[in-house]
Amino acid sequence: MKIALDGPSGAGKSTVARALAKKLGIIYVDTGALYRTIGLHAKLRGVGMYDTERIKELLPEITLGMEFINGEQIVTLNGVNVGDTIRTGEIAMYASSVSAIPEVRAFLLETQRKIARENSVVMDGRDIGTVILPDAEVKIFMFASPEARAERRYKELIAKGENCTYEGVLEDIKLRDHNDSTRKTAPAIPADDAVMLDNSSLDIDGTVDAAIEIIKSKVQL
Ligand code: C5P
Repeated sequence: MKIALDGPSGAGKSTVARALAKKLGIIYVDTGALYRTIGLHAKLRGVGMYDTERIKELLPEITLGMEFINGEQIVTLNGVNVGDTIRTGEIAMYASSVSAIPEVRAFLLETQRKIARENSVVMDGRDIGTVILPDAEVKIFMFASPEARAERRYKELIAKGENCTYEGVLEDIKLRDHNDSTRKTAPAIPADDAVMLDNSSLDIDGTVDAAIEIIKSKVQL
């Protein structure tokens, strides 16, 4: 079974995908980690995040590995587990930038397809239903209003002790949405046959339940 879970940043895709995978006994694939790992390599090699030409030149020297241990995804970069080093704000920016390069997307295409050929997966990303797994049995496009996402993000940041305003967070989200949905390569848009799941007024459990209902309507569980 292949479940494609796409949608904008901050809609809670990874939390929901993880819960779905656990419930269904299948693998959760976080594709953002792959773009982050390319970004990490560029940073380690001293290449700037907007230096498209140099980033393209780095691709032949990158070997990416993905393993799943007790349901946890491990990504290796030239044999070394990247762990949490890809979970920083700077690497998120690198990931966002390198993900707009068509050669980077082409480089990661087969890695993603191979995992889905060999396993039942719920794969979280931006172009899973449109490009990576166009034949997925279930395609969900999960989103929430910019205001709902900004409120969640604002609360998270405040809880972490960061200094920010709701208006500032909302502005960032709107800008990122605009960039992600209007970029030429693999914009974050729903597949024609995706089911839209608006979780603006749902919590995590409610969203997982709604996703399960969508899955049940498409495949026999
Ligand atoms: O989901 P995550 O925040 O880890 O993704 C990091 C960046 O990688 C995102 O900003 C997005 O632009 C990009 N990405 C992508 N396609 C995917 C997954 C992530 O372009 N399938």
